[in-house]
Amino acid sequence: MISQEELKTCTYNLLKERGITVQSIADIVMIIQQPYIPDLTMDECIESVQSVLEKRETQNAIITGIELDKLAEQKALSEPLQSIMTRDEALFGIDEILALSIVNLYGSIGFTNYGYIDKVKPGIIRHLDSKVDSHCNTFLDDLVGAVAAAAAGRIAHNMPNRVHHVIVEG
Ligand code: MG
Repeated sequence: MISQEELKTCTYNLLKERGITVQSIADIVMIIQQPYIPDLTMDECIESVQSVLEKRETQNAIITGIELDKLAEQKALSEPLQSIMTRDEALFGIDEILALSIVNLYGSIGFTNYGYIDKVKPGIIRHLDSKVDSHCNTFLDDLVGAVAAAAAGRIAHNMPNRVHHVIVEG
């Protein structure tokens, strides 16, 4: 069996290859969690992202999703999957489902965050979502969003005394 250490190295290398840094994911965590924890620090966001990336479930989802994105770019997939992935068809949905295995790790706050990130597309998610180049990021945008959502959920669970409840008026 592949060791946890090998799997972790592989995960970090793949993210780097696709232009994703821990910092870029931590930036999203800060954007979505700061309204609730005003004194949240960037170091805490980074630490939480790293902790989510330690999990085998996260690593498995990332190596699977990025592999499929790469194969789609190389036009190495069979039809109809090749066309579905190239067009990033909205009704495909397996990209979101795969990423849910990461979101699941930290409970219901993770789900809320995940939906919010998908809708608002903060930070690097917007760049990944824009189809400006020949890259296929069908799985990557959801994976990055899921790691950020899980990392934010983890922070909320670990720091209940620092969470401020935001009252939305109107
Ligand atoms: Mg997607």
